[in-house]
Amino acid sequence: MKSVCPGCNFGCGLYLQPKDEEMMALDYRRGILEIDFKKGSEVNEGKLCKFGVELPEYYANKAVSKVDGLEVEFEKAVEEAGKRLAGKDVVFLSFGDSTCEELVALSRLADGKIESGLGALSDIDESAYMCMAVGIPYEDIEKAKSIVLINVDPYVQYPLILRRILKAKESGCKVAYVGWRKPRNLADKVILLSPSTWIKTLAELENEFSEFLGEGCVVISDLHPHVHPAQIKTAL
Ligand code: SF4
Repeated sequence: MKSVCPGCNFGCGLYLQPKDEEMMALDYRRGILEIDFKKGSEVNEGKLCKFGVELPEYYANKAVSKVDGLEVEFEKAVEEAGKRLAGKDVVFLSFGDSTCEELVALSRLADGKIESGLGALSDIDESAYMCMAVGIPYEDIEKAKSIVLINVDPYVQYPLILRRILKAKESGCKVAYVGWRKPRNLADKVILLSPSTWIKTLAELENEFSEFLGEGCVVISDLHPHVHPAQIKTAL
C-alpha cells in the first residue's frame, strides 16, 4: 500500500505492507507491518530517516487514551478533557519533533488555537513569510549555483536535503558553511565562528561570502522555535 510517513512535514513516500508469517516469526515485536522503499517518491527518492525506517514500530505501539485511569476512545478522552478544562486558562505545549498525527490530535484538543512559537520573529518583513512558511522546491537546491549553509550540517540534520546538495555539487555548485559546529566534508569554504558571538559576527561577514551570494544562490538555515531569531533575520 502506498503511504506517506506521518513523522514530519517532509511527507516522505513509502510502501507499507503486512509482514508474511516468516517475517512475523523473526520480528514480531516490531508490529505486523513492514516498509518498502518507494524510489519513485519525488520527495525522498526512496530514502527515509530513522523515524521513517522504524515506522512499523511506531504503529505497533498502540496509542492509549485514558480518563481517570480507564482506557477510553480518543474522542471520549478529548471530550472529557474539554469539559474539565473549560473556562480555565490552559497552555498546551508541544515541540517540533512531534509527529504530524500528534500535532493534529493536539490541535483538536487545543481547539485549534495554536501559537507556533515564532512570535519573536514578528518584526521580520512580511515579504519573507512565503519562503519561511513554504521553503523552496528540492529542484531549486539541485539547480543552485551556490549554497550557503548557516550553522546547518546536512549530513547530521537533513539527509534528504544533503542528497540534493550533492547533486548540485556534481553540476558545479559551490558550497560555503558558516557557523560554530564543525561540519562534515561538504563545503568548499568553511568559516567557524565562536558560539558566543557568532550571530553578531555572521552579520558582518557578507564580504566573505560575496563570491557565493547572488543569482542562483540558495541559503539554508534552520527555522524553528529553538533557533535564535537573530540567526533567521541574518539569513533572510
Ligand atoms: S524525514 Fe523522516 S520523519 Fe519526516 S517524513 Fe521523511 S521519513 Fe518521515
